[in-house]
Amino acid sequence: MGRLVMKFGGTSVANIERIQNVARHVKREVDAGHDVAVVVSAMSGKTNELVEWCRAASPMHDAREYDAVVASGEQVTAGLLAIALQAIGIQARSWQGWQIPIKTTDAHASARIVGIDGSEIIKRFKERKEVAIVSGFQGIYEPTGRITTLGRGGSDTSAVAIAAAIRADRCDIYTDVDGVYTTDPRVVPKAKRMDKIAFEEMLELASQGAKVLQVRSVELGMVQNMPIFVRSSFDKPEDIDPHGTPPGTLICSEEEIVESQVVTGIAFSKDEAQISVRQIQDKPGVAAAIFGPLAEANINVDMIVQNVSEDGKTTDLTFTVPAADYTRAKDTIIKSKDHIGYARLDTATDVAKVSVIGSGMRSHAGVAAEAFQALADRKINIRAITTSEIKFSVLIDTAYTELAVRALHTLYGLDRD
Ligand code: ADP
Ligand code: ASP
Ligand code: MG
Repeated sequence: MGRLVMKFGGTSVANIERIQNVARHVKREVDAGHDVAVVVSAMSGKTNELVEWCRAASPMHDAREYDAVVASGEQVTAGLLAIALQAIGIQARSWQGWQIPIKTTDAHASARIVGIDGSEIIKRFKERKEVAIVSGFQGIYEPTGRITTLGRGGSDTSAVAIAAAIRADRCDIYTDVDGVYTTDPRVVPKAKRMDKIAFEEMLELASQGAKVLQVRSVELGMVQNMPIFVRSSFDKPEDIDPHGTPPGTLICSEEEIVESQVVTGIAFSKDEAQISVRQIQDKPGVAAAIFGPLAEANINVDMIVQNVSEDGKTTDLTFTVPAADYTRAKDTIIKSKDHIGYARLDTATDVAKVSVIGSGMRSHAGVAAEAFQALADRKINIRAITTSEIKFSVLIDTAYTELAVRALHTLYGLDRD
């Protein structure tokens, strides 16, 4: 007998039929003797609709009210799943973030979990064998008592945090794919499912755009050493042996991975924007004059490239920001024009970042160079490059994203036979 968290994403709870299917997955684990806490997302498309309603009501809305609105999607699915479980004879109770409570910071719309009291859930496991159904994505900022949300995709983080709080043996993330693949299987049909992937590599994949897990959930799993198992909710519950090993991907510590490869996976993100500040005086303080105001405006700068301008005397500085922050970033640089001292700005929003990830890069040289050649062979221009210990990224025109991802996937021997 063990203790499990089962998390179901939006497509897995998209309608009543699927919620009933989820209930049967939960029943399977309860019948096998496990204590179970379930974390649910909103029905697929619901959160987008709620976000859009906020925007339609007023583009400049209060983040506390945005959270009050968008957290409602998860409230509905938690209640419905509790009803569906009760209907098949399983004792179940729904829990909103504030009822547990899941305490967070006050950064509305992107709050961080700071603590969860799991004692009531554990007590009910012991006393009543009751399944807890927790609304994902939401929490409470206790000093004000307001509802908060954890940022898009945040139910994954709710699940890992609940797993840590109730000292679960494992956190199962049920989704619409049967594991983590070498790249998005919807873009590269030849992508392979991995049996295991190290936390560090999954963290890079997620932060570079693989949305199968929210970045913070992987961070939390790593810190708490909580094994995370990504698997499909579309398998028939009746076909699964609760004591066997179903198809899926285990995210675990590096030591548990026997066969490590140089390149593990490829991620991409189309939500990027490029800003090039042209012909700046090459003198101390220029980078501070550009990036200081961006940091103050809470804008995350990712890639940075500095090179000599076309006149041979001054310097150009190119950087990328999330597409959502593009207008604010551009306005910030324009406002500081006199202080920075530059000739002009060139910008592009039709850019994408492709990242190659693998812990084997620590000990292998020349991995990136092969990619640059492969992209050159396909006439794909690289606008910027960044590297870190176990990853490198290139910025290219969005139109070439799929071509680049597929080319690199083949280059590093990741294609399925
Ligand atoms: P959920 O609603 O269950 O949270 P998401 O849509 O957030 O599901 O995440 C699952 C999706 O992530 C998949 O449908 C897939 O298209 C995408 N994805 C991107 N990169 C990967 C990858 N490397 N492996 C698996 N899925 C990936
Ligand atoms: N429903 C939220 C979203 O769509 C949280 C989640 O699904 O993880 O972002
Ligand atoms: Mg998700």
